[in-house]
Amino acid sequence: MCYDVAIIGAGVVGALTARALSKYQLKTALLEAQNDVAMGATKANSAIVHAGFDALPGTLKAKFNVLGCEMMPKVCKDLSVPYKNNGSLVVAFSEEEMETVQKLYDRGIANGVPQLSILNKEELKALEPNLADNVCGALRAESAGIVCPYELTIAATENAVTNGAECIRNCKVEAIDFADGVFTLKTTAGDIQTKYVIDAAGVHSDDIARMIGDESVNIVVRRGEYFILDRAVGNMVSHTIFQCPTKMGKGILVSPTVDGNLLIGPTAEEIDDKDDVSTTLAGLHDVKVFSTKSCPAVSTRNAITSFSGNRAHPVTDDFILGPSKVNPQFIHASGIESPGLSSAPALGEYLAKVVVDAMGGVEEKEDFDGTRKEVFRFRHATDEERAAAIAKNPAYGRIICRCETVTEGEIIDAIRAPAGARDVDGVKRRTRAGMGRCQGGFCGSKVVEILARELGCPINEITKFGNGSNILFDKTK
Ligand SMILES: Cc1cc2nc3c(=O)[nH]c(=O)nc-3n(C[C@H](O)[C@H](O)[C@H](O)COP(=O)(O)OP(=O)(O)OC[C@H]3O[C@@H](n4cnc5c(N)ncnc54)[C@H](O)[C@@H]3O)c2cc1C
Repeated sequence: MCYDVAIIGAGVVGALTARALSKYQLKTALLEAQNDVAMGATKANSAIVHAGFDALPGTLKAKFNVLGCEMMPKVCKDLSVPYKNNGSLVVAFSEEEMETVQKLYDRGIANGVPQLSILNKEELKALEPNLADNVCGALRAESAGIVCPYELTIAATENAVTNGAECIRNCKVEAIDFADGVFTLKTTAGDIQTKYVIDAAGVHSDDIARMIGDESVNIVVRRGEYFILDRAVGNMVSHTIFQCPTKMGKGILVSPTVDGNLLIGPTAEEIDDKDDVSTTLAGLHDVKVFSTKSCPAVSTRNAITSFSGNRAHPVTDDFILGPSKVNPQFIHASGIESPGLSSAPALGEYLAKVVVDAMGGVEEKEDFDGTRKEVFRFRHATDEERAAAIAKNPAYGRIICRCETVTEGEIIDAIRAPAGARDVDGVKRRTRAGMGRCQGGFCGSKVVEILARELGCPINEITKFGNGSNILFDKTK
C-alpha cells in the first residue's frame, strides 16, 4: 500500500498537520521514531502561546505565531485540551531595557499583535505584586496564553487517528529512496511507500532532508533547562513573566502552567548531541539565579522536578517551510524552534494545504469531526459527576495517583484511547499520574501493573518510555 502523505515526526507540528490532513480523502501516516508521540521538543518547553512580538516583521515566525496564537483557544476547545489566556509581561529592569520594551511593542504592532500596551512600574506592580522592587515597567501582551504542549499533541494525534490517519510509533526513518514518483522510507518498522513526505522531525529534520540529498537545512541544537515547582507554592504570578530577550532567545521566565505549577527556565546552551536532554548543575543554577531576579520569592527548594528540552535552531533563524528544491514532493517543516508551539495550529493547516494544492482536486471528507470527546478528569469533577462516573464504572472510584488524584478508570481510558499510552511516561502525560510531588513514588508500581494488564504483556516488558527503559527485570534469566 502507498500512502498519499507520510509525516516524519509526531511532535506538535506533525500531529496538528496529521489532523489537518485528516479532513481530506487522503491516506495519511504519522511516523514517530519513539514509543510515543510528543517525545521531542514538544514535551519539554515553556508551554507559552506567545503573542507574536518577538519575531522580526516579515518572517515566517512572525506570521505563523500571530495566526497560531489566534487559533489556539478554539483548537484547544475542540480537542478538549486545557488552555489559559493569562497574558504575558516582558519586564524591564533599567531605562535601557525600557527601550527594548518599546522596540518589542513596535515590532508587535508591525506584526499585527492585538492588545499590546506598555506599563509603568506602578501599573506593573499592581498587576503582579510579587515582582522584584527594581522593575521599571513592562510590555503587556494580553493575547498570550499557556497550554499543555504534550496534551495538545496527544489530542491532535487521537483526533487525526479517529478521522482515519494512521499513527505508527517505533518507526524511525533511516533512509529514503525515490523512484517513479514514490518515496520508499526505510524505517525500523519496515519499508513505507508514500507520494509526499512532510519532514517534521525537529532537531533531526536536517538529517532527514539530507536523506533525499537536500543539504539546505542546518539545525543547531540549543538546550533549555527548567525546574517545575510544587503546586503548593500557589499563584506567585498570574502572567507569564519574561525578561528582556538576548541574542540567545527570550531569557529565563517565570510562568504558571495550566496545571497550577510554577515553571522557571529555560537556559540556552548550544550542544553537539542532538538527543542529550540531561540537566546540569550549571544550567539549573542559572535558572535559580535569573528567575529570582524577576520574582525574588521563587525558591528552588519547592522544585519537584527538573528537565530539559532541545531547540531546533535553524542557522537561517527562521522556520523552513514548503517544498524542497531537490524534490517538490518532499515538504520541509524544519527549524521549528520557538514560537513553534504557538504557531503549530497555523503550521498544520498551512502544511496540509501545501500538499492538497500540489495534489490538486483532493476532496474533503463529509464525516470529518474535528472535536474530541471531553476526557473525564476525576480531580476536576463535581461530587455528582464523580458519583455518576463511579456508578457506571467502579474503576473511577479507585485513586491510583494520590498527588494528582488520578483514578484507575482514567488510566485505563488513556491506554485504550486511539494511539493510547504504552508506557509509564505515556500514562503520566495523558493523565498526570506521577506528575505530582512524589513524582510517581507511590503510584508508579500500580501504573506498571495496569499497563501490563491492559496491554496483555508480562510486567517486565513495561517500560518507562520505550527503547529498553524496562522498569522490572527478571534476574533469573
Ligand atoms: C527549551 C524550549 C522552550 C520552548 N518554549 C516554547 C514556548 O514557550 N512557546 C513556543 O511556542 N514554542 C516553544 N518552544 C518551541 C517548541 O517546543 C517547538 O517549536 C515545537 O515543540 C516543535 O515541534 P516539532 O513537532 O517541530 O518538533 P518535535 O517536538 O521535536 O518533534 C519531532 C519528532 O520527530 C521525531 N523524529 C526525529 N527523527 C525521526 C526519524 N528519523 N524518524 C521518525 N521520527 C523522528 C522525534 O522523535 C520527535 O518526536 C520551545 C522549545 C524548547 C526546546
